[in-house]
Amino acid sequence: MTTRTPLMAGNWKMNLNHLEAIAHVQKLAFALTEKDYEGVEVAVLPPFTDLRSVQTLVDGDKLKIRYGAQDISAHEPGAYTGEISGSMLAKLHCSYVAIGHSERRQYHGEDEPLVNAKVKAAFQHGLTPILCVGEELEVREAGNHVAHTLAQVDGALRDVPQKDAVTLVIAYEPVWAIGTGKVCGEEDAQEVCGAIRGRLRELYGEETAEAVRIQYGGSVKAGNVAKIMAQPDIDGALVGGASLDADEFVRIVRFRD
Ligand code: PEP
Repeated sequence: MTTRTPLMAGNWKMNLNHLEAIAHVQKLAFALTEKDYEGVEVAVLPPFTDLRSVQTLVDGDKLKIRYGAQDISAHEPGAYTGEISGSMLAKLHCSYVAIGHSERRQYHGEDEPLVNAKVKAAFQHGLTPILCVGEELEVREAGNHVAHTLAQVDGALRDVPQKDAVTLVIAYEPVWAIGTGKVCGEEDAQEVCGAIRGRLRELYGEETAEAVRIQYGGSVKAGNVAKIMAQPDIDGALVGGASLDADEFVRIVRFRD
C-alpha cells in the first residue's frame, strides 16, 4: 500500500506572461476546493519571469498551490549571463524545479553531467528536482527504452546521497509523447516507471524506492489521466499543453472523480 501523495504539476513551458500567469493561478485557486487538495499535491511550473507574480499571489492568499521553475543553473551566482541560480529560486519560495526536460536536452544540448550538476544545485538550495527522463521514438522502436531511461537516471543521480534522493520526483516522459497527442499506453508507462523504481531500490534501498514519486508526462489530458494514475508505480503527472487550460488542469487534478 503506497503512501506517496500524487503530484499533478503543470509545465507551462514558454507560455503566459506575468499578467496572464496571475489570471491563470487565480482561476485554478478559484476552482480548486479543499477536497481537491486531499491526498493530491498541485503545482505549476511557470516561466522565470512569472515566478515573482505567482509567489506574491500564493503567499498573499495562502494558496495551497505549489510552484517551481522549469530550469536551474548548475552554478552559484556570478558571471553567468542569462542564468538563474538555485538561491534565486529558493528566495522566491519555489518548491520544485524541472531538470533535464527533453526540450532542454534537445534544444539546449543538456547532457547527463549537466543534468547531474543541476540536480545537485537544486538539492543544495532546498529545491525538489523533478528529474525528467525518457526515450526518443527510435529508441523505443529498437526496444531499448528501459535501458536508455535507466541510464539517464543513473547519470542524473551520480553521487547524489540517499538523504537527498529520497525527496526526489522523477518524471518519465517518452519524448515521442510530449506535445504530440500520442499518449504512451498505461501498461507501457508502468513498465518504465516500475523499472525506474527498481533502479532506485538498487541504488538507494527500499525506503528511497518507496518514497520517490514517479510521474508520467506526455499528452496527459483529463480523458486519459485516470488510467495512467491507476498504475502502481505512477504517482502523478507532468502536464504540458493541457495545463494551460485551467478547467482541463482542474479536471486532471480531479483524476479520481
Ligand atoms: C511536458 O512539457 O512535460 C509535457 C508532458 O507536455 P505535453 O503534456 O504537452 O505532452
